Amino acid sequence: MQSTRTGSGRSFSLVVLGSVLVVFFATAALLGFFVFWSGDQVDKVGIDRQATRVVSSLSQQLRQVSKDQESISVWGDTLSAVSRRDFTWLNHNVARQMASYFSHDATYILEGDDTPLYASKAGRRTDTGAFDEIAAVVGPMVEELREKTRLGYLDIPPSIADFVVIAGTPAIVGVSPIVSANGEGERRPGLEPILVSVVKLDLNYELGMIDRYMLEAGRFTTNPSDNGLSVFPVTNRSGRIVAFFEWEPYLPGTELLDQTVPAFATGFGVLGLIVALLLYWLWRSSRALESKHIDAERQATQDPLTRLPNRLSFERQFDRILREQGPSRQLATLLMLDLDRFKQVNDTLGHHAGDELIRAVGERLRHVVGPDPILARLGGDEFAILCLAELEEAEVMEVCRKVIEAIGRPFRIGGNEAFVGVSIGVVLARAQDRKRHELTRRADIALYEAKSSGRNRAAIYVESMNELVQTRHSMEAELREALKVGDQLWVAFQPLYGRRDGEIVGAEALARWTHPRRGPIAPMDFVPIAEGSGLIEMLGEVVIRRACQLGARWPGLTMAVNISPSQLRNPNFAERIFAILEDTGMRPQDLEIEITESILLEDEMAASDAIRSFRRAGIKIALDDFGTGYSSLNYLKRYPVDRIKIDRSFITQLSTAAASVAIVQALVTLAHALGIEVTAEGVETDEQYRVLASMGCNTFQGYHFSKPLEAQALERLLNAPAALPAAQVA
Ligand code: C2E
Ligand code: MG
Ligand code: MG
Repeated sequence: MQSTRTGSGRSFSLVVLGSVLVVFFATAALLGFFVFWSGDQVDKVGIDRQATRVVSSLSQQLRQVSKDQESISVWGDTLSAVSRRDFTWLNHNVARQMASYFSHDATYILEGDDTPLYASKAGRRTDTGAFDEIAAVVGPMVEELREKTRLGYLDIPPSIADFVVIAGTPAIVGVSPIVSANGEGERRPGLEPILVSVVKLDLNYELGMIDRYMLEAGRFTTNPSDNGLSVFPVTNRSGRIVAFFEWEPYLPGTELLDQTVPAFATGFGVLGLIVALLLYWLWRSSRALESKHIDAERQATQDPLTRLPNRLSFERQFDRILREQGPSRQLATLLMLDLDRFKQVNDTLGHHAGDELIRAVGERLRHVVGPDPILARLGGDEFAILCLAELEEAEVMEVCRKVIEAIGRPFRIGGNEAFVGVSIGVVLARAQDRKRHELTRRADIALYEAKSSGRNRAAIYVESMNELVQTRHSMEAELREALKVGDQLWVAFQPLYGRRDGEIVGAEALARWTHPRRGPIAPMDFVPIAEGSGLIEMLGEVVIRRACQLGARWPGLTMAVNISPSQLRNPNFAERIFAILEDTGMRPQDLEIEITESILLEDEMAASDAIRSFRRAGIKIALDDFGTGYSSLNYLKRYPVDRIKIDRSFITQLSTAAASVAIVQALVTLAHALGIEVTAEGVETDEQYRVLASMGCNTFQGYHFSKPLEAQALERLLNAPAALPAAQVA
């Protein structure tokens, strides 16, 4: 039960923890993704813009080359210098001008029939053969230009510029016809001399371009590298790719990210830390709550003294087992334990010692039964053992034997030795017995049986016990009724004989119940019921009153009454007796109270108090059923009694067991040594009488002399002692 509850607590905090972490990381991942995606988008837009700029710059380059050329080619002086073959002028005004002013790399002048007339490189005239290297590339352009000029033009002549590759280097080549600006001189459409200039797209050019278009770095190439640069194809007028412009793109998104991501990450880290701290706090408080819960659960389900499960926990576990066990032949074995004599230890050694004893009992039980069975303290001196294994009756009894043996060993408590016993009620739960209440009720019945059949033993529940309980129940009600009205209850008197000549020296009052339906019921059957139901005090009073009434009429005759432990425990008991004596007028010294040594054993304090006050009043005390208890001789020394009544079990064995003779003899000798009279109970034969008499017993009681009699019969006998009234036996 504990584990399920705490388990749910733990899983709850795990769920909370897990959810917060998932939400946190999902948010972080989503935000991260969004930020990087935006950066990427911005970068793409940036690159597109740069590409657009590159495109416009390239077409502008072409136009510029044509423009540069026009400043030289549309000029009468140039035309005349060409016709004059004035190379000095050309050197000065064409080659140098184009190179230094416009940064063209090479300049050529072709005649009307396309033969190169003039060539210069880097501003210096050179051999016209240099034209060969560009002749193939320029040829088609020249042809196209001548075609255009042949068609005629108005002010400014057509010109062509295009991208080409010369000896592996990308370049711009421009061709323009050389004409006079104002149209003077001879016009030869389609046959004009042509100015050709080459602008290599080399480092120099590139630097200029980078500068102009604010690029990081860039270059023209015929085969683009694959290193993350942006590439733009450079196409000629017919759409063929002649080269590529590759440049290191300016990435605004990446730059933005570079600047913002650290701040962003730091922010998120701090947030993460806060969340972590919050979670930690949450975890801590949920743990604290959980352990509080466990503590509370433990307090509710654990016995603080023995640390064993308490009644509540036991019942829950039992219910669960009954619910969960499959249809097996035997479900479980339940043992109900009740300590014998625990109250006395508690009363004599104190509650602290009682607690100590309970703890020690718990430990011994745990040791005996092992870890598997469920062991619980139900409260007070009650324990329960629930075995789940299928046990045979013999095995169960073996467990009980071990438990009884373990608890029977003396306990050392605070310098004292304490002795307790244990009675065990056992019930074997079968598949059909699935009700805890019924099973515990049966175990209780068996426990009651174990207790009433002498304690310190185990009894296994059988159905007849239940019947017995039912009978006991109805008998209790009937006894209650009988005590109120009618004459079902009466008292028989069994005379006690002295040693000499059958003289009656006393009588023992014995309760009798003649049930209208059941007939006579033996005291052995109804006295325990009266004791168990609290009716014994009323019953006892009926007997004592009748005994005293009779005793008052026969002063000098000892009238003995049997007293149950619970009567003696009642603090008003002595007073009641005195009141009855006074009411009836009986002499206290004629009254004898018979107690069993179990009273002394169980309730020393109460017994000794009452006994003392009786003795002070002159009432005599007899120890009944002597020899059947534990340590009789010890008690004889501690509690001064006037008489012991040697139990019938010794007397019956006198003729068969030599040991009984020795024991009875020893008892008589000892009692006499202590000044105590001895009565032999249950004398049935003359032989027994003679043996007992020779041993020195003082008085005799038994069927040999007389059975218990009605009061009038006893009185008749008292009046005529010689005649033994065998006929009026009760
Ligand atoms: P007890 O006090 O030991 O009484 C003697 C019992 O032995 C009586 O049984 C008596 O009838 C029986 N008895 C006497 N002589 C012989 C004999 O020669 N042979 C045999 N077989 N039995 C003999 P009873 O009257 O059935 O009483 C049984 C027990 O019930 C008593 O034992 C006593 O402990 C208890 N008892 C009887 N009346 C009362 C009472 O009023 N109050 C209390 N508390 N207990 C009572
Ligand atoms: Mg008696
Ligand atoms: Mg007796």
